[in-house]
Amino acid sequence: MSRTRLAAGAVISAAAVLAIAGCASTAPSANSWHASGSGSAPAAESGGPISHPIAGGAGSSSSSKPAASTSPSASASASAPASAPASPSASTSSAPPVDGILHNTGSGAVALTFDDGPGPDTPKLLAMLRAQGIKATFCLIGVNVQEYPKYVQQIVQDGHTLCNHTWKHDESLGKKSADTIRADLQKTNDEIHKVVPNAPIKYFRHPGGNFTPLAVQIASELGMQSLGWSVDPSDWNTKKWSGQQMTNHIISNVRNNTKPGSIVLSHDGGGDRSSTMAAYKTLLPELKGKFTLIAMPV
Ligand SMILES: [Zn+2]
Repeated sequence: MSRTRLAAGAVISAAAVLAIAGCASTAPSANSWHASGSGSAPAAESGGPISHPIAGGAGSSSSSKPAASTSPSASASASAPASAPASPSASTSSAPPVDGILHNTGSGAVALTFDDGPGPDTPKLLAMLRAQGIKATFCLIGVNVQEYPKYVQQIVQDGHTLCNHTWKHDESLGKKSADTIRADLQKTNDEIHKVVPNAPIKYFRHPGGNFTPLAVQIASELGMQSLGWSVDPSDWNTKKWSGQQMTNHIISNVRNNTKPGSIVLSHDGGGDRSSTMAAYKTLLPELKGKFTLIAMPV
């Protein structure tokens, strides 16, 4: 699977940041796939407070080529609570950049991506997307596929794109042996295919965004393009925001940072996503009015 499939400009090279973290969301009681990050790892319910230096905005490097659209940027209202590490401090993080990861769609279209599901909030999101006629991309966790197979079927029936988000969100998977990585990704794909036998799984997103060259390579060998993001409203950071405050934060962050070509990261699983759902109720019609929204192509 050529990484240039979307467009040459879509693959950001070493220069462009590799976001760390990402889906460090709240873990549902039974699972503990979050919270490995640097600092403390509080118990289940609160997930990992991973610091989250985000990648430069969508078009950060010169390689991106947002179509000639006249980008309507930020719009009114919704003041962002607190100072979110919204975007670009293109400064370096502790992780070395890894090649071969998509950080933008390669066109003027915007891709909404939802991680860590499926989960109890997934049907709500699917209904909202359906009502707006919007297609998105879902990065699924194997054990959640096992738990909510019907939601996976619904995702596929609705025409969304699937992405492998590993078996149980091991944020260190990429540092393990090739065999371990391959087995994890294959097991996840196999589980997905048990419930949606022929659905293509063309993308891989490493938990926490902790891609390694080896993980990217193995994903590629399994036919999956590594999928990063360029907009992260940090809806995983339930330590910092909650309730309406989180909702407002997500809305203003996505509203202010999404541009042509953006890949937006959010979560429909991995904990209580009611704030994310509330935010997207507002955001979906708004984004639809400004951009062409696409599921990542398969
Ligand atoms: Zn995740």
